[in-house]
Amino acid sequence: MIKLNLDTPIASLPRIGKKYLKQFHRLGLNTIRDLLYHFPHRYDDFSNIVSISKLELNKVATIQGRVLDIKTTQTPRKRMIITEALIEDKSGTIKAVWFNQPFLTKIITKGKKISLSGKLTFGPDGHYISNPSYEIISPLRNKRLSHTAGLIPIYPETSGITSRVIRYAVKTILPVINQIEDFLPLEIIKNQKLLPLKTALKEIHFPESKTLAEKARHRLAFDELFLIQLSAIKQKREFKKQKAKVIYFNKTLIQSFVKKLPFQLTNSQKIAAWDILQDIAKPRPMNRLLNGDVGSGKTVVATMAALETAKAGFQVAFMAPTEILAQQHFENISSLLKDFNVSIGLLTRTESRTPTKKFKRKEFIQQLKNGQISIIIGTHALIQKNIKFKDLALAIIDEQHRFGVEQRAMLQKAIIKAKDKTPEVIPHLLTLSATPIPRTLALTIYGDLDISLLKELPKGRQKIITKIIAPEEREKTYEFIRQQIKKGRQAFVICPLIEESEKLEVKSVTQEYEKLTKEIFPNFKIAMLHGKMKAKEKEEIMTGFKNKKTDILVSTSVVEVGIDVPNATVMMIEGAERFGLAQLHQFRGRVGRGRHQSYCFLFVENPTKKTKARLKALLECENGFELAEKDLEIRGPGELFGIRQSGLPDLAMSSLANLALVEQTRKEANSLLDKDPTLKNYPLLREKLKQFQTVIHFE
Ligand code: ADP
Ligand code: MG
Repeated sequence: MIKLNLDTPIASLPRIGKKYLKQFHRLGLNTIRDLLYHFPHRYDDFSNIVSISKLELNKVATIQGRVLDIKTTQTPRKRMIITEALIEDKSGTIKAVWFNQPFLTKIITKGKKISLSGKLTFGPDGHYISNPSYEIISPLRNKRLSHTAGLIPIYPETSGITSRVIRYAVKTILPVINQIEDFLPLEIIKNQKLLPLKTALKEIHFPESKTLAEKARHRLAFDELFLIQLSAIKQKREFKKQKAKVIYFNKTLIQSFVKKLPFQLTNSQKIAAWDILQDIAKPRPMNRLLNGDVGSGKTVVATMAALETAKAGFQVAFMAPTEILAQQHFENISSLLKDFNVSIGLLTRTESRTPTKKFKRKEFIQQLKNGQISIIIGTHALIQKNIKFKDLALAIIDEQHRFGVEQRAMLQKAIIKAKDKTPEVIPHLLTLSATPIPRTLALTIYGDLDISLLKELPKGRQKIITKIIAPEEREKTYEFIRQQIKKGRQAFVICPLIEESEKLEVKSVTQEYEKLTKEIFPNFKIAMLHGKMKAKEKEEIMTGFKNKKTDILVSTSVVEVGIDVPNATVMMIEGAERFGLAQLHQFRGRVGRGRHQSYCFLFVENPTKKTKARLKALLECENGFELAEKDLEIRGPGELFGIRQSGLPDLAMSSLANLALVEQTRKEANSLLDKDPTLKNYPLLREKLKQFQTVIHFE
């Protein structure tokens, strides 16, 4: 037999057939390490062994006895294969019945001693145990039973691979655990009263008791979060070691800007602006996220930082995810800053201009390079290779979640490249996002960022009337929408979310489009939008909608309708029950931006009590952040923010909702890094962290 270690492929394990191997691989389990870290999600409690005479109807229990008889029959009509066994212990006999498992007669044979766990059921032929888990009790070895005694691990299964198979495989590799060294510093283990790693790994699979199972899970969850914390905090500290331009706080300038605004800043806006202006006055690069609900007024806050930077003689790059958004910002910011004598430019795939003049692209790029443009607003065009800045000191990224990690890194790199004179100086980074980040996530996977929150919306925003629409109210609601459009308003229609298949989603939006055009709203102009369209086509359709060339915009959920269309008053969402609350709230935020009363209609297909209760939160709550916390509670973090794709282990994922654990791990990670910033005294931990970082990639 080969010597097993953590990196041994599962394929080398004895008695795992080809069929199972494929399924293990499908579960992402390739090595013994993977298998060991594939944790049960719950346990069945078979610790209660009773004598046959004490079995109670409809209760799960475990019995141990001898097989008196076993046979398989086939029912004539339903063609079901039934295996029946008679089991005897000192107190009596009982029948066990299995369905469609004919092979059982080969395993469970007359005379064998057996352990069975299942529910006592009553049928036409009397009492029997239905479909019990079984295990042969070996007369030779006195080994612990894995399938029917004590707490039995139940694994997340995929089709074709049962917990039984996984249990068997895990059992064979348990000895490997003895080779594992604990990477967690001893003082942390002591401080936090954690189980040693070896014990935790054994106990999570085959726990001696419920308490130990919980302790094991706690230890392993601690590990995952601790590694996330270490990684984020280390990154943050390293980032802060770099240098950035000092942009002195110019009180007179800011006061005159605020005085000229057509509105009063909200309290949160003032605080956030203060945080940002303080940050950029330091010689260390800012890395701050300005997080605030749709419509909370992030742009004006970012504009204040841009104004200061420009007036200090440096450049600002402001990147938005789409052309329309870039244009919108360009117009807004130009108007906000019209009395301040700063040069502002727009650069997208199709445009290069200042508020007063269009330029040839080449000429425009040259102006950027010479520093003649102080605030440049644009799309990805800003991070193209040929773009150079003279003196970029602040980069602002709007709707940061819409850009991948790489694109964000690119912006910074592009910028670093630009600084030929002082290459070690990097720009301050300000990211804007409306995606609410619950507190636990702010402290973990977003832990490398400083966060400013815009908690309140500007005064006087109208309330959007939100309604859950049951199937029988559909017609009435269509009629209402017709009336709105006849009054000159516009409507968005969002099609149901179809996970994992963009193709199906395109199909569904096309069908919806046809239905609306032909049957429901034949007199109105309707446009369609989906993720498979080319960027240019999307832009045209959105611009068309914004300019009221169309009345209704039908869109998939993948396309965020990230535009300001004040004339749109209806947001109609099909299959609303499939979306998270936070996402529904984002959709809702697309209306109610003008002076007209706006509406959000949540169409549900099967309005169960539960979906209704969940969606009701949306009717009662207008705060995206509260909704995100609720979403986190109800659906778990995996469904939020695409974390599911991050490669984060399930256990870490579920622990992300546990604030106490998040805080403990953060505290320990901070104090460890205070003591030993490079972890030079913890080689095992360093190694583990490296492995961990290659697996995880956050969006
Ligand atoms: P978001 O945070 O969604 O990016 P914007 O920055 O686009 O929001 O602001 C939305 C609208 O609110 C803009 O028209 C903006 O001028 C306006 N606005 C911003 N701050 C205030 C305020 N304090 N009072 C009133 N209106 C405001
Ligand atoms: Mg915005």
